Amino acid sequence: MKEKVLKYLKEQKEYVSGEQISKKLGVTRASIWKIINKLKEEGYMIESSTKKGYKLMEVPNIITKEEVQSIIKTQCLGKNINYFSEIDSTNEIVKKLARKGEAEGTIVIADKQTAGKGRLGRVWESPSGVNIFMSILLRPQIKPDKASQITLIVGLAMCEAIREVTGLDARIKWPNDIVVNGKKVCGILTEMSAEIDCVNYVVVGIGVNVNQMEFSENLPHATSLKIEGGKEYQRGNIISVFFDKFESYYMAYKTDITLEPILPAYKTYCITLADKVKIIDSIQEYIAEPVDVLADGSLVVKNEEGEEKRIFTGEVSVRGIYGYV
Ligand code: ADP
Repeated sequence: MKEKVLKYLKEQKEYVSGEQISKKLGVTRASIWKIINKLKEEGYMIESSTKKGYKLMEVPNIITKEEVQSIIKTQCLGKNINYFSEIDSTNEIVKKLARKGEAEGTIVIADKQTAGKGRLGRVWESPSGVNIFMSILLRPQIKPDKASQITLIVGLAMCEAIREVTGLDARIKWPNDIVVNGKKVCGILTEMSAEIDCVNYVVVGIGVNVNQMEFSENLPHATSLKIEGGKEYQRGNIISVFFDKFESYYMAYKTDITLEPILPAYKTYCITLADKVKIIDSIQEYIAEPVDVLADGSLVVKNEEGEEKRIFTGEVSVRGIYGYV
């Protein structure tokens, strides 16, 4: 009921009486009063006047279940939201939910992670109150070797969402990091459970540095939207715009299982194609010139001997030759 009251308050331009809300939503005025007080405790600025009723004046920068539910506009993804103020890793929780049979589109959002994960067992710095930590459960009917393609779709949707909400020149570092001014603002970690020829489920974890102002010394390549844009951004807005974009790309992808439709936009924002890169895999490191991103998600590069190679996401890192990008 809390999310319904919140949504209703957000829709009103003028004051609305407790009686009106209770009639509209079919609950007692006493429960409305209780809910309004709860919302105030969470930081919503709701003006109440005995004569006129209630008016929502200001929304706090939080990403609770009710807040996200009140702004998300999707049809299928992000409808079932699980929120934690603190959790070890959102990907781990989604995996547990997946094993219990939860439906596609279920999401887990946390305000803070105590064991946030990056790729290849790395750690994702996840302090409270400032960033987005979110994982999505997907159940695409695809072969396991295709699962990493979803990472590129998520990357594009988040890059576009950041651009739209902040106006910053966000770019994609192939395959899936989002950078602003050459520094990382978002990381994406895709994990899956699969049989030899079919995927059981895919978990996509997304970490966005939204309003964090300082990073650990060992993260010289990290930045946040607030550091780059000079102002604070509503985390909920980014989540909502992201889901708008991601849902339409993902639904189209599930029909044809190809990245073809998103490739032009992906390449427009892909900063990796702009300059020479250093490819680091488990056996070697070499400098190469990026040539293209293909519809299967691979990166085509030309090495210094002029040979073209296709690089697949996974056990490989791509860096700029002088810095992170
Ligand atoms: P890669 O940059 O090789 O693709 P990952 O996507 O796995 O690496 O991200 C994990 C790495 O990102 C960590 O090893 C660390 O260097 C860096 N990192 C950790 N937390 C953050 C953060 N909050 N923001 C930006 N970078 C981070």
